[in-house]
Amino acid sequence: MSLADKDRIFTNLYGFQDWGLKAAQARGDWDDTKALLAKGQDSIIDDMKASGLRGRGGAGFPTGMKWSFMPKESKDGRPSFLVINADESEPGSCKDREIMRHDPHKLIEGALVAGFAMRARAAYIYIRGEYIREAETLQKAIDEAYDAGFIGKNACGSGYDYDVFLHRGAGAYICGEETALIESLEGKKGQPRLKPPFPAGAGLYGCPTTVNNVESIAVVPTILRRGPSWFASFGREKNDGTKLFQISGHVEKPCVVEEEMSIPFRELIERHCGGVRGGWDNLLAVIPGGSSVPLVPAEQIMDAPMDFDGLKELGSGLGTAAVIVMDKSTDIVRAISRISYFYKHESCGQCTPCREGTGWMWRVMKRLETGDADIDEIDMLQTVTKQVEGHTICALGDAAAWPIQGLIRHFRPELERRIAERGEAMAEAAE
Ligand code: NAD
Ligand code: SF4
Repeated sequence: MSLADKDRIFTNLYGFQDWGLKAAQARGDWDDTKALLAKGQDSIIDDMKASGLRGRGGAGFPTGMKWSFMPKESKDGRPSFLVINADESEPGSCKDREIMRHDPHKLIEGALVAGFAMRARAAYIYIRGEYIREAETLQKAIDEAYDAGFIGKNACGSGYDYDVFLHRGAGAYICGEETALIESLEGKKGQPRLKPPFPAGAGLYGCPTTVNNVESIAVVPTILRRGPSWFASFGREKNDGTKLFQISGHVEKPCVVEEEMSIPFRELIERHCGGVRGGWDNLLAVIPGGSSVPLVPAEQIMDAPMDFDGLKELGSGLGTAAVIVMDKSTDIVRAISRISYFYKHESCGQCTPCREGTGWMWRVMKRLETGDADIDEIDMLQTVTKQVEGHTICALGDAAAWPIQGLIRHFRPELERRIAERGEAMAEAAE
């Protein structure tokens, strides 16, 4: 199982060619987009449902279904909006960055087609503040699309008026959470809202809004051109399509690569990364979907299909498909402790279990690095993760709890060893 070059959507992922409009058109972007729009809104949404595309931002919610939540008629004259989440901040994730750097016209064309399908007046692309060069490239590409008449008034000669705005974030991870992102776009402090209502009911400025990830939108024109069954022919049932994997850590050649969904882990790494540093016997564990998902130990991940359901069965998740490979040189307790610090630092602080819990969990994790803890604190830590999980406004609380749960589930003996060794060393020193 491996994706052939002819089936790749992102044909300029590595920037070997120019990102500009002419080169993008030569690669097939903006090719008779008017005809895509002429399919009609409902037909486009039906095609997206049939393609099986699930959201590429991490949660995997079916994209076509999400679009179908948008109203067909405007209520009280309120416009609808598409918001594109380009606030890529999940540790390990760097795929949207490559799209915006090297294939920005795929995103802009996708923004038009998706926005048209959900009857949106405009798209707002909310880009991570640190992506300075990417924002420059994207803005130039947006300007090119306006100048060519592809967006703006009578977009692509379709009779549909559609604007695309780029908005830069200011460096807060939590603004990648869709409702915090909307708050931030509105000019407020980026803090998540309670859901429901979901954005389709009340989103940007209280108007119907769909928030989609960059990759989810950028693949839309190709899916419509090549047909939903073409896209659905890749991967396993309910895990359809191609996917950008971002592989970092202890592999010979870290990379971002488009592959068939459900490719087994070992094949993904052998084919694109030249294997694990020091050989397969040297693999310790893998975080398969960005820092929010629990790690999976080496022996369990080897033959696992890299998709939503396959990794869920292992107690982890595909998330953003940011695959972090750790070999036996890794201090696994320190690695998870560092992730805990990240969530403590990024908590927006508005709900108590997250605000207090992330700091508490990190402080215990920090002590566990050196074994400076009582043995029953491992169970206490586990209990606290359960008290945070599912008891917060947004998924950041879960994301802080899950990596620790994974560590305890798979590496409890390592935690116990450190506590015992420190206890022995202290006893010796006292003698
Ligand atoms: P979620 O499951 O709450 O929602 C996913 C999407 O589906 C949202 O757009 C939501 O509005 C929609 N949705 C869900 N249920 C719905 C319903 N009943 N009706 C209408 N719409 C509904 O997940 P989330 O909190 O948006 O995202 C969590 C994920 O984000 C994590 O899995 C993590 O992997 C990922 N993440 C990604 C990044 C990144 O940099 N890309 C950063 C942090 C987290
Ligand atoms: Fe803020 Fe954390 Fe609550 Fe999310 S879970 S709203 S980040 S305090």
